[in-house]
Amino acid sequence: MEISFAGKRALVTGAGKGIGRSTALALARCGARVTAVTRTQADLNSLVQECPAIVPVCVDLADWAATEAALKDVGPIDLLVNNAACTKLQPFLEVTPDQFDLLFNVNVKAVLHISQMVAGGMKARGSGGSIVNVSSQASQRALRDHTVYCATKGALDMLTKVMALELGPHQIRVNSVNPTVVMTKMGRLGWSDPEKAQTMKSRIPLGRFAEEEDVVNCILFLLSEKSSMINGVALPVDGGHLAC
Ligand code: NDP
Repeated sequence: MEISFAGKRALVTGAGKGIGRSTALALARCGARVTAVTRTQADLNSLVQECPAIVPVCVDLADWAATEAALKDVGPIDLLVNNAACTKLQPFLEVTPDQFDLLFNVNVKAVLHISQMVAGGMKARGSGGSIVNVSSQASQRALRDHTVYCATKGALDMLTKVMALELGPHQIRVNSVNPTVVMTKMGRLGWSDPEKAQTMKSRIPLGRFAEEEDVVNCILFLLSEKSSMINGVALPVDGGHLAC
């Protein structure tokens, strides 16, 4: 399926590594003008070296005021990928308030904030647009030691639905992708132990983890006009895990 984003402007958060970086590069290959947002300057330097057309923005999305300042001049955006997220493994009884606040700030509050800024512009221009939130199978499955992460992704799925409801009349579609494990920096944190990985794989009918490309392809589809009647869905990219 050929997808072109020629003439479109895209913003991807968490574009320094993993799924976000691959998404930013794929969008640029499809002709979009891409703004890449992350907090580690070295990642942005290497990204721009790889694709000089990408516009880098360095900011810690946990900081509301800094995010506002960093993004206020990015200009009109047609396609938004809210991908940045963080996690920390803690058993439920050991969850700390600082980790709770950090994960909700980055994984949920920053999505709300950036989406408000971007969708506000889309509405004012009457141009419509498409937003994809990168959620997780963890929004719908309890995962040991992932209390707060699971809670943030559950919240993100509901945020996606309400955004779809309120922004739909402005021709702004909002959907999420909900991947199973991908062996990025984040994936390795939770699933490097071969026994744990094997247990998870045994619960995935396709018998493997997802590749970055599996997720990126679904993000591109949901951003594109090929999905023009899809709004408010949480699309599993999980080899069937959530189906059983
Ligand atoms: P990575 O850890 O590989 O990359 C995350 C990116 O987000 C990094 O560039 C990171 O920057 C950036 N980021 C994190 N926190 C902030 C912040 N406060 N401000 C700005 N940038 C930030 O993660 P993945 O690629 O694996 O994850 C991408 C998305 O996919 C996330 O939403 C994740 O929840 C979701 N997901 C991942 C799965 C997996 O198994 N990997 C499974 C299901 C969903 P830095 O490295 O500098 O912190």
